[in-house]
Amino acid sequence: MTGAAGPGRAPRNLVIVVLDSLRYDSWLEARPENLARLGPVEKRWSYASWTAPSHYNLLMGLLPHQSPPEVYASEYYKQDFLRYSDRLGVEGIEFKRLLPSIFLPTFLRNELGFRTGAMVSMPVLNPHTAINRDFDVFELMPSHNDMAAMLPRLEFSDDRPSFWMLNVGETHYPYATPDEDPSEWPRISGVHGVFKRLDEGGADAPTEPREFFDQAKMRELHARQINTVSYIDDVFARLFDQLPSNTWVIVTSDHGELFGEGRYFGHGPIMHEKVLEVPYVEGMVP
Ligand SMILES: [Zn+2]
Repeated sequence: MTGAAGPGRAPRNLVIVVLDSLRYDSWLEARPENLARLGPVEKRWSYASWTAPSHYNLLMGLLPHQSPPEVYASEYYKQDFLRYSDRLGVEGIEFKRLLPSIFLPTFLRNELGFRTGAMVSMPVLNPHTAINRDFDVFELMPSHNDMAAMLPRLEFSDDRPSFWMLNVGETHYPYATPDEDPSEWPRISGVHGVFKRLDEGGADAPTEPREFFDQAKMRELHARQINTVSYIDDVFARLFDQLPSNTWVIVTSDHGELFGEGRYFGHGPIMHEKVLEVPYVEGMVP
């Protein structure tokens, strides 16, 4: 790991990319070459099984955990916050400096002078929700599955460091790349309700799949998620070319996804190991 920078040096930029719903094993099977340039991918565990609480947790600065045995939670949190000194190249970042808000954008903007921005793909994270706090820019993308469209909107400045949180939706159901015709998406009753604009959803608007799927269908859906990782790996190559050299990058997921294990599909109201299993990698921009 890169050590902390000397006193008085400006903090590095920080970019956290959240690949929504991406399971660890989907990442492994896709073998993404550009993402591998960041470092070895780890299997970690999300604190929550669906998008909203998981992103709140991430924005508290608590990244997916390693589930270490025989460690008090408070001690683990303390060690996790100390890592921000290495990530940002700034000495002395510890938990008590995040008090009382315990919110990373608040701390970065008010204490370290960052410009803070978020681009999100999931309507449940839209700019009117409670997580849009102390962001200078917060945008719900027009399409739920187009990470490449975020790249021209990313801004960095020589005057102050930037923090960006990107919520990427290609890896979310229906695991579609932006060039795929929506009429080609897997046809599952109700699931498109996830992407309805919030003001379009009536009482009957379904938000989760209602059917139980056979195993062949589940394998097809899992293969679609793996395929989206291969696709966005090329978008990451463009992202890495674009980011300033003094940028720390974290790539992870907000929760996993079930593809038939335990007779579950998707994420959310599910109690299963696979819904918490996520990939995690971090490092200086390669
Ligand atoms: Zn999610």
